[in-house]
Amino acid sequence: MQLEVELIPDHCPDNVRTIHGKSWPQIRELVIAKGYCEICNAKFLKSGKPKKFEAHEVWNFNDVTSTQSLTTIRCTCKLCHLVHHLCHTQKMGSKWFNLAVTHFCKVNQCSIETFKDYFEVKLKEWNERNKKIWHLDITLLSSLFPSITFIKGTTR
Ligand SMILES: [Zn+2]
Ligand SMILES: [Zn+2]
Repeated sequence: MQLEVELIPDHCPDNVRTIHGKSWPQIRELVIAKGYCEICNAKFLKSGKPKKFEAHEVWNFNDVTSTQSLTTIRCTCKLCHLVHHLCHTQKMGSKWFNLAVTHFCKVNQCSIETFKDYFEVKLKEWNERNKKIWHLDITLLSSLFPSITFIKGTTR
């Protein structure tokens, strides 16, 4: 699938933003400066104005070692981001959920039935991962963003 649902297990309390909150605005700037969605290629709104983009952390989950490793941080449009975090989107209400599902089917050129089967598999996988405590590995961060000096700590 070109556009995936990427569910984060419940026992993953941290991410780049919680660890490097002070550096996050800089990371976000660099990522969204790409100016297009790296998943669906969207650049502009219907009105012709540039879209607003979001920085999305992409993780690899090693189910054997229970390690959650950062692989990249991607520039995505709002709709693709809603699909990535579909369980969170679901909590925002059916309007947002339906919008995300429609976008999923459009980008992946699939039917709603294909989506339903796919989502069921993802939820099963998520339930399994929710039974474990995950270790975080963000060692790739400095090579992804060599121009940033990372300072631990949050801005909150
Ligand atoms: Zn997109
Ligand atoms: Zn995200």
